[in-house]
Amino acid sequence: MNPKIGILGGGQLARMMALSGYPLGFEFVFFDPSANACAGQLGELMVADYHNEVALEEFCQKVDIVTIDFENVPVDTLRFVQKKKPVFPSPDVLEIAQDRLTEKQFCRNHGIPTAEFEIINSCSELKFAAKKFNYDGILKTRRMGYDGKGQFRIDSAESINSVPDELYSQDLILEQRVPFVREVSVIVARNGLGAIKTWPLCENKHKDGILTTTIVPAKSSPLDEETTSHAVKLAEVLNYVGVLVIEFFQTNEQVFVNEMAPRVHNSGHWTIEGAHTSQFENHLRAGLNLPLGSTAMNGMAAMLNWIGAFPDNVLSIIEPDLYWHLYGKEPRPGRKIGHSTLLAPTPQELHDKIVNLVKKLGVQL
Ligand code: AMP
Repeated sequence: MNPKIGILGGGQLARMMALSGYPLGFEFVFFDPSANACAGQLGELMVADYHNEVALEEFCQKVDIVTIDFENVPVDTLRFVQKKKPVFPSPDVLEIAQDRLTEKQFCRNHGIPTAEFEIINSCSELKFAAKKFNYDGILKTRRMGYDGKGQFRIDSAESINSVPDELYSQDLILEQRVPFVREVSVIVARNGLGAIKTWPLCENKHKDGILTTTIVPAKSSPLDEETTSHAVKLAEVLNYVGVLVIEFFQTNEQVFVNEMAPRVHNSGHWTIEGAHTSQFENHLRAGLNLPLGSTAMNGMAAMLNWIGAFPDNVLSIIEPDLYWHLYGKEPRPGRKIGHSTLLAPTPQELHDKIVNLVKKLGVQL
């Protein structure tokens, strides 16, 4: 029998999971509060609130196993679903990852460094902590923050005055800014039998807190082995099932966890064409306790994110080893609406291909 996989969240990650699962004979049902969720263009979409237990019950009856495309699916929803069908990753992991404080504490309790941080509940606490960090920090909401949302740069005593009063009604932390030389991520797949695979280290560039490009493999650095081993350790201590992505800051001497994504991740989109097995396929394989596919790659890959709008001419640009992914989403400022992957045998050729593509599109990265 072909497994029927339920996905809570119907965005582009669910869409790409389904696109990797259909050739293997898997079937999919998506569940999302929005009728426009772009995975719905591919298969059955149930439109309901994540707290609608009648709809969740019906969803569970339709599927064999459930996963997520969105790490902020309420933990209560996952616990409700888990009583009826197996869920991966587990609600316990989501509970840790949904709160920047518990996530950082978890890492530290397992000997994995993070940025220094202070819990903030009021303006006076912020003033105290900002001074402690020499006015070089980032104020973040503990929950529901992603792609730089809910973040304020604190770089002077005055910058504290521009934090809106309403923000203090939320749980906050102030993180000391890490003077990183680069940001990298490790994509780990682990199945329920404990088999683990990682893809080569990804180097990521962000603009306004949103990922813009990923280059793989990252140029090698003496910290890479330690970085990857931190990610593998986290997957093991969490008893994780599925794909887990850990984002890191590397300085010249040290590596710090930035955050974990308990799901497939934007910095792993290149794996669709750039690796023997994609993050999406291995996520599904992991959840179904199937052997994990090879994560090896040939040559190098670059992923360029398309945010807000596309240049008009995208699909008329055809190049060897250039792959377009349009998510079927309405363009809107700050919204991820597609990506391109470029493959090349060497760093220089990859660089030349990126420059050539950007020139043809007339965009700036
Ligand atoms: P986040 O949503 O927490 O991943 O933050 C988005 C981006 O903001 C990161 O990818 C970094 O570029 C930057 N950033 C966040 N926290 C820090 C930090 N503690 N130190 C330096 N840069 C940071």
